[in-house]
Amino acid sequence: MPTIPSRDLGLDGAGFLPGPSHAAPVDCCSSADPSQVLREVFGYGAFRGPQQEIVAHVVAGGSALVLMPTGGGKSLCYQIPALCRPGLAVVVSPLIALMQDQVEGLRQAGVRAAALNSSLEAAEAGAIWGALERQELDLLYVSPERLLSPGFLDRLAALPLALFAIDEAHCVSQWGHDFRPEYLQLAVLAERFATIPRLALTATADPRTREEIRERLKLQQGRVFLASFDRPNIRYLLRDKDEPRRQLLAFLADHRGEAGIVYARSRSRVDRFAAELRAAGFDAVAYHAGLDAAERSSALNRFRRECGVVVVATIAFGMGIDKPDVRFVVHLDLPKSLEAYYQETGRAGRDGLPAEAWMVHGAGDVPQLRRFIEDSEASEAQKRIEHGKLDALINFTETGGCRRQVLLHHFGETLAEACGNCDLCLEPERAVDVTEAARKALSAAFRTGQRFGAAHLVDVLLGGDTAKIRELGHGSLSVYGIGKELDRGQWRSLFRQLVAGGYLLNDPEARGGLSFGSQQLVKPLLRGEARLALRLPPPAQQRRRGAPGLPGGSASRAAIEAEAPVDGVLLQSLKEWRRQQAREQGVPPYVVFHDRTLLEMAACRPADLAALAEVGGVGQAKLERYGAAVLALLASASTP
Ligand code: ADP
Ligand code: ZN
Repeated sequence: MPTIPSRDLGLDGAGFLPGPSHAAPVDCCSSADPSQVLREVFGYGAFRGPQQEIVAHVVAGGSALVLMPTGGGKSLCYQIPALCRPGLAVVVSPLIALMQDQVEGLRQAGVRAAALNSSLEAAEAGAIWGALERQELDLLYVSPERLLSPGFLDRLAALPLALFAIDEAHCVSQWGHDFRPEYLQLAVLAERFATIPRLALTATADPRTREEIRERLKLQQGRVFLASFDRPNIRYLLRDKDEPRRQLLAFLADHRGEAGIVYARSRSRVDRFAAELRAAGFDAVAYHAGLDAAERSSALNRFRRECGVVVVATIAFGMGIDKPDVRFVVHLDLPKSLEAYYQETGRAGRDGLPAEAWMVHGAGDVPQLRRFIEDSEASEAQKRIEHGKLDALINFTETGGCRRQVLLHHFGETLAEACGNCDLCLEPERAVDVTEAARKALSAAFRTGQRFGAAHLVDVLLGGDTAKIRELGHGSLSVYGIGKELDRGQWRSLFRQLVAGGYLLNDPEARGGLSFGSQQLVKPLLRGEARLALRLPPPAQQRRRGAPGLPGGSASRAAIEAEAPVDGVLLQSLKEWRRQQAREQGVPPYVVFHDRTLLEMAACRPADLAALAEVGGVGQAKLERYGAAVLALLASASTP
């Protein structure tokens, strides 16, 4: 069995390149088989999903389009062929920060990788070219601008090439939202390097974008590998928006010390919630396009490099966040489509450990989003598309079934069984007969002139004493105070569902005022000729933060993951050790070892190097580099 030579790259030095002693022949691995590279370089025991098939296809010289969700493991699909095929693998990647992390991660695993982009000085770039010409690199990350700059392709053409990988390939699509004009020119690779395999990779699930990628990158002849877009480790939790501030703090109480993203619609809301979270003792930073570049990059760096930072952000934050241990993504306002929701929540749990996608939503968000669409510069046809996308999202929030089934259905996948890991699966509240309550709700809308939103109507039904009620004299209406059998949260939910069901219309002109919807629905209900059953949330005093007996904290998380009890103190010492390593080397902690790897170490407590090598994420280079230190730490913790 061939062995892979250890490649110590002198990572202690700040240098970006392997030193002269590492000039091993570039094709040293060309005889290695992919499973061996997976095990010895990356430290993983088995391929995931379609990885194996993709790797085999590319190693054999084939081109392909790879569609995999975020966290699915796209990188290995080109990194392993890069090590199994002779020559250099060129990876086109749109974001410099992302490239840097990938290169750092590869170098930690002992792989000879470098990046060429606009952030480099001419001398550094020159040194990389020197290494390329001496065939001392296996992987080169490059921005599309660099790749297409004059003379670059000519220089590449003089080198033996293993493959081209085009990451974030959806940037080629004008239909999607990350369009980058330079990506269009990447079609030139098909003509110029017809015999070199090309691999385009994306996490975009939309079929229309897929076709556009194949066409524009001239990949019609290549295979298409489509992985499931399910992210089973993400728990989808939707809540009725009631008091977002209080609800958010209650949610975060279970997530202290964890990294997460909180999305809010506007810059002012971002600033306000970031301040609220800081006041409540969270390490929260704001991120939006209104901040200057230095503030933005400092927020981004803290989030990437430190543990437990919460970023409160507009959707300006996200592209290129490949931090693996984001434990939650919160939406305080509705995103604009189900695609956006999927993409934003997808930033949670890339490492495969349990993560939560938590959203508060209310009917009040919808008219505002409709107005945004109407006020935009888009053509009428485009506006219709946007309204349709919003409808799909509303359908998701109003569904009575499993959230994951609705979500995957939207992307053309069928999940045969309910998932057991979303709010509707975890907290089944059976549909109840709400005919009487619905009649009261409709009457409240009618008696107040069909121009008020749910908030005021609920106040009236509950017999509230608000300034608005006094001013308008609504305290003397027949519907005043007749709805005490439900609490506020239940009424809000009922109103939302009446809107979703078409009984009430949310009139954007009237700023969220509710008027009667379809007469065919409303009349029979009011006349007592039809009944209505819906699901309502449990009364507020019974509402819990999570489902009983389900893992919430990180200790139980560890236990499920490793199926063994984890010593929290030991895990903390491992994390502290990792933090030091990362700081000394100036890399993000997850580049040293992922959380998942530390968890497994703490659970299994390997006693020697051979046992440590069995832990997922410990390849040869890391074993040699960190093995002794980790074993010493584990041993000292084991002595009672
Ligand atoms: P993507 O680019 O598709 O979002 P990555 O390539 O960053 O995903 O992989 C996500 C995570 O999964 C990384 O932490 C990676 O190390 C891990 N991973 C990938 N493939 C495997 C595998 N076969 N076994 C274990 N972990 C894997
Ligand atoms: Zn479910």
